[in-house]
Amino acid sequence: MMKYESLIIAVDFDGTIVEDQYPKIGKPIMFAFDTLKKLQEKGHRLILWTYRKGRALEEAVDFCKKNGINFYAVNSSFPEEEFDPSHSRKIHADLFIDDRNFGGMKDWGEIYLTLVGDKNDQLSRGKKKKKRLAPILK
Ligand SMILES: [Mg+2]
Repeated sequence: MMKYESLIIAVDFDGTIVEDQYPKIGKPIMFAFDTLKKLQEKGHRLILWTYRKGRALEEAVDFCKKNGINFYAVNSSFPEEEFDPSHSRKIHADLFIDDRNFGGMKDWGEIYLTLVGDKNDQLSRGKKKKKRLAPILK
């Protein structure tokens, strides 16, 4: 059901998009950028939601740009939002993807299948499953 809605997705950087080497930038985590690109293609809005600020933040934003991702907003709910201490710091998002999630972070392959996987993905997975089960069922 979620697959067809336009979601606002907040994504952490260190340990989520890249390996955690803060304040350096680690290697991209497998399928992270591919998944983020697909999410944008499907019309979802991506917010970079990170502890980074100042120069370290700029470096992260630039790194993502070089890898094909321009965020809808950075550390804010929408692009024009100015930080106002009279409002909550929590941003508005439908989903948060963060390596500090309780229970750990799903791998990007699973996130991809859950959020952008289409019928063909489901079918191919189903077929594989049947093949694997076939010898057991005999
Ligand atoms: Mg993190």
